[in-house]
This record gives sequence, C-alpha cells and structure tokens, in this order.
Amino acid sequence: RAKQQGRDTYHVFDTGLDRQIQAREAYRQRFAVALAQGELTLHYQPQVDMFGGDVIGAEALVRWQHPERGTLAPGCFLPVIEGTALEIELGEWVIEATLGQLRTWRAAGLELAVHVNISPAHLLSGRFAERLEWLLNRFPEVPSRLLKLEVLESAAMHDMQAALSVMRQCQALGIDFAIDDFGTGYSSLTHLRQLPVDLIKIDQSFVRGMLTDPDDMAIVESVIFMANRFRRPMLAEGVETLEHARALLALGCTRVQGYGIARPMPAERFPGWLQEWPGRHEWSALAMHLTG
Ligand code: C2E
Ligand code: MG
Ligand code: MG
Ligand code: MG
Repeated sequence: RAKQQGRDTYHVFDTGLDRQIQAREAYRQRFAVALAQGELTLHYQPQVDMFGGDVIGAEALVRWQHPERGTLAPGCFLPVIEGTALEIELGEWVIEATLGQLRTWRAAGLELAVHVNISPAHLLSGRFAERLEWLLNRFPEVPSRLLKLEVLESAAMHDMQAALSVMRQCQALGIDFAIDDFGTGYSSLTHLRQLPVDLIKIDQSFVRGMLTDPDDMAIVESVIFMANRFRRPMLAEGVETLEHARALLALGCTRVQGYGIARPMPAERFPGWLQEWPGRHEWSALAMHLTG
C-alpha cells in the first residue's frame, strides 16, 4: 500500500512538473514565432560623458512587442530561452538589427557607437567570431568600431581561456568590448588585467545604493580606483539622479547611463532626443570644474 501511495504521490508531482515543462516549451515556441514574425525590437539608451556633455553612444536593449501582453522586457523571456538554440538565434538577431540601425543612422549623418549585450552561451558557442565576421561583411557601410559588445564578467570568468580567445578574434575584426555589471561577478585584479576590455560598466545595483549604503559606496569607489589604475575607461549604469552623478564625478567617473538622462527609447525617437536632450546643460554643468 505504502508503495502504491508513494507511486501515486510521485505521479501527481510528476504531472505538475510535466505541466511546467510543457508551459516553458509552449512559451519557447511562441518566442520562436515572435522572432520569425518581427515582434522583437530594440530600444536604445544613451550613454553620456558629463565632461563635455557629449552623447558617446547608446546601448541596444531588446524588447518583445507582444500583441496581447504589450512591451515585454528581457527579464520576461531571456531566462526561458537560456540554454536553448533560441538564445543564439536571438543574439544573432540583435547584432544584425543593430548593424541595420547603425547603417540607417549613418546614412542620415548620425554616427553613434552602439553597445550590444552578448550572452555567455552565445559568446562561447564556438562560432561567435566567425558569425560576427559574416554579419559585419553584410553591412560594409558600417565601420566595425561603431559596434561594441557588452559581456558579463561572469561569462569571461566561466571559461577564461575560451573567452579570451573569442574576444581576441573579435578585436581583430575591429570590435571593442565592455565588461557589463562589473562588481557582481568574481571580479579580480588579475582578470581585469587580462581581459581585453575597453570599458568597464559599474553595475547599477551599487550605483543605486551608493548614496545610502556605505558598502555600495565602497564597491563603487574601489571599481573606479581600480579602473583608473589600470587606465581603463569606465561608465556607471543606473544613474537616476544628479546627486548620483555628482558623487560619481567626485570619484573620477565622468561617463554615465541611466534613467536620469533618458530611459531606453525606440530608434525613431533617438535622433530627436539627441537634438533636444533637455538635461544636457544641467548634466554637463556638473563637470564644469573639471575643465578648469
Ligand atoms: P544590462 O545590460 O545591465 O542593461 C541595463 C538594464 O538596466 C536595462 O534593463 C535598462 O533598461 C535598465 N536601466 C538603465 N538605466 C536604469 C536606471 O537608471 N534605473 C533602473 N532601475 N534601470 C535602468 P533591461 O532592458 O530590462 O535589460 C535587462 C538585462 O537584460 C540587461 O542588463 C542585459 O543583461 C539583458 N539584455 C537586454 N537586452 C539584451 C540583448 O539584446 N541580449 C542579451 N543577451 N541580453 C540582453
Ligand atoms: Mg548591458
Ligand atoms: Mg549592466
Ligand atoms: Mg544587468
């Protein structure tokens, strides 16, 4: 009897699990349709150097324009496709769409560098550099220096030798790297020295907490200190207020990205925003003393 009961219990559990697996599979199939039917789009968030008040680039962030559920952020779908072929397909779509946008903007006289997020599995998929070269060749009007790749610190740490080799191949194609969410992984000085990165992005969680949490402030200070010592440019993400910007400037970080400057926006809105950027004066005035 006990055995029978055990089996029944197991069966019930199993069905629940089955249902979850089926739901994930259905969601993946729906995502594959979205990818094929053009429901995905990129939003662009400006990156600014307060020293001079220039817009130095933008980060492309994927959105799913779901016909029933509205605009979905990557947190809704990236975890579901992680580890499947769709993750690579999406990654390639994002690069291709970014190159297309760069071509459009360039033809309109706007030359802007765009950062693209690369997932760890995509970077280490084995043919990343080869596929990237193929994509770049399809957009001969776009200089490769305008495409920048953001990789998570954790991706590089997972398999340092493999990551290094892919990154070097991409660099040979003229592509620069930024290290994303810096401070959240197992950052070490050795890694920072080894990695061929041209920009260190301080994770937004530390930036957000830096004015209220002394530990967050300590991390931000250390990253800025370290980046300066290694002569690597850095950028703080998640900058929401002028107070944060002021504190970052005082520590020696002039490049920022965050809601305080602008939220990610559709490509069509970007050129207009660039012309008007209502906060330009305020934000660049913060860094005025640096010119003296
Ligand atoms: P991330 O690369 O660190 O991007 C920054 C995220 O913070 C974005 O969220 C952005 O909208 C948000 N953000 C920017 N400024 C602020 C701010 O001032 N305050 C707050 N609270 N948030 C801010 P999003 O677009 O939801 O993307 C989340 C993450 O999803 C990204 O983090 C990135 O890891 C991943 N992701 C986004 N697009 C792609 C993509 O095309 N491919 C891949 N593989 N991952 C992507
Ligand atoms: Mg990023
Ligand atoms: Mg980040
Ligand atoms: Mg992040």
